[in-house]
Amino acid sequence: MERTNVNCHETQRWLPGYLDGELDLVNAVAIEDHLKTCARCAQAHTSQQALQASMRGSRLYAPAPVELRQRIERSLRQADTSARTPWTLRWRWYSVALALACVAVLAWGLGRAWVAPAADDRLAAVVLDAHVRSLMTDHLTDVVSSDHHTVKPWFAGKLDFSPTVDDLASQGYALAGGRLDYLDGRPVAALVYQHQRHIINLFSWPAPQAGDTPAAIEVRQGYNQIHWTQAGMTYWAVSDLNADELHAFVQLVRNQSAATPTQ
Ligand SMILES: [Zn+2]
Repeated sequence: MERTNVNCHETQRWLPGYLDGELDLVNAVAIEDHLKTCARCAQAHTSQQALQASMRGSRLYAPAPVELRQRIERSLRQADTSARTPWTLRWRWYSVALALACVAVLAWGLGRAWVAPAADDRLAAVVLDAHVRSLMTDHLTDVVSSDHHTVKPWFAGKLDFSPTVDDLASQGYALAGGRLDYLDGRPVAALVYQHQRHIINLFSWPAPQAGDTPAAIEVRQGYNQIHWTQAGMTYWAVSDLNADELHAFVQLVRNQSAATPTQ
């Protein structure tokens, strides 16, 4: 094989590679030949060899942990795969888009959940206003009667529906009368009941689109309000009566309304 000659400059430049065994055979042999004939380069070789040996022997040198090497190799493989297949990258964008879509759907759902109570909340405030107004303005009843046979016909011709009027005196809730009220942009029936010294306003109006809902209570400005929908009618009972007794009243009304179909 034809030998390659290297000069001092090339030898010293390649020495580190030669010591690390990184040169190809031809160049390694050329360096070897040069070192046999050149004292200066041989001296450089010896000192570099000594330096290398001392570093390996010292605590400064530590072989990389196997896990680190594996992690670097894995990340290199992944980088290589991504570069070769932009599909992977696209899929990541699809994932991001999908996640954003999920967030949007969730926000929409939450928005709906918030909007629905907001409408109910506004109505609850309107109903409470009507209750308080009826107590303040000395206009609790238009028709004063404890007889539901008097109160029910009184509404005829004044409303486009006929409210169920029950006499609940025997259960402790005496009918005091009724009046016309105007809530949420429509005339409604307000029946007034009395329990001990507490006044209960029972508002009702048709809600043909609404399905039946259970009675739900909320406390607003110290008053208890119970709302429910039953047989195409929506009901609000409002009073400063305690929650238990107002619930008992509502249960009586619900039972009567179930027994007496509205027209
Ligand atoms: Zn030399």
